[in-house]
Amino acid sequence: AFIAFDQVLPHDNHIMLYDQGMDAYSPRRLTLMTELKQSLHNNELELYFQPQVDLKTNKVIGLEALARWTHPEFGFVPPDEFIPIAERTGQIRALTSWVIKSALAFNSQLRSANIDINMSVNVSAEDLNDTSFPGQVAIMLEESQVLAQNLTLEVTETAAMRNPEVAVNALTALSKLGVRISIDDFGSGYSSLTYLRRLPAHEVKIDRSFVLEAHQSSDAETIIRTIINMSHELGFKVVGEGVENQAMVALLKTRGCDYGQGYYFARPLPENQVVDWLEQY
Ligand code: C2E
Ligand code: MG
Ligand code: MG
Ligand code: MG
Repeated sequence: AFIAFDQVLPHDNHIMLYDQGMDAYSPRRLTLMTELKQSLHNNELELYFQPQVDLKTNKVIGLEALARWTHPEFGFVPPDEFIPIAERTGQIRALTSWVIKSALAFNSQLRSANIDINMSVNVSAEDLNDTSFPGQVAIMLEESQVLAQNLTLEVTETAAMRNPEVAVNALTALSKLGVRISIDDFGSGYSSLTYLRRLPAHEVKIDRSFVLEAHQSSDAETIIRTIINMSHELGFKVVGEGVENQAMVALLKTRGCDYGQGYYFARPLPENQVVDWLEQY
């Protein structure tokens, strides 16, 4: 390990030690680091929306907003690449605010077309770390005139565990606004049942790796069944992520999973295709 570039960039005031294996400072990455800031102003970022379906009624209940960056030189840059960059260069707070505002604006646009639907937005550990975040969310709800209950904030299990005290405080404040809280990629981290119980959450999303393997691995199926039963006992709704085929739908339904999301229903859609998709579905 050697001392890396990150120390000259704002990162929680820590000095980062970093492993050679990470390929973190390739020329491409350095370019993305410096150009992410402009991307917001240059309209290179946009939101796609992926439907979430109630497995009992087959009704669409929500849309998850997923950020997309089309870079002028590199083309499509996946969020798994640029979100960590935003997190490590102090830009995620601005990005999250933009995503929430845009998702709420789209929600009120849909409501004018008589489409009443939940909006889910992903937030990072850094957002929860900012004590002004819940207040900012309250203002964005106020300005957009969207009811808090129509907004779900997704935080990954791993992010919620990074600093449990901070996460519990932030999620409690957000819950008090009436916003729904969802624990994303659940099962991929190492949190205990006791910890999940402490989180003021409303929903758990089963990590898609388990859904993917469920039909061929009895372990994965056991994990899914356990997550669903445990979540229901704790009063959480459960979403199965990465639902790609009818067999996965059937398995989740049999196990009592509430909602499904995945390519089987729809890929993430650009904003201008959402209404058409909803009408055809
Ligand atoms: P996530 O929140 O767990 O989002 C689900 C990811 O799974 C999305 O990838 C989605 O396109 C993909 N997916 C959905 N259905 C299927 C399926 O049936 N099969 C497969 N193989 N994949 C499926 P995407 O859009 O590339 O986003 C990756 C991750 O990047 C997200 O995972 C989330 O953690 C993060 N992300 C995306 N947008 C934002 C954002 O606006 N803010 C933050 N903080 N993170 C974001
Ligand atoms: Mg998510
Ligand atoms: Mg997920
Ligand atoms: Mg994920």
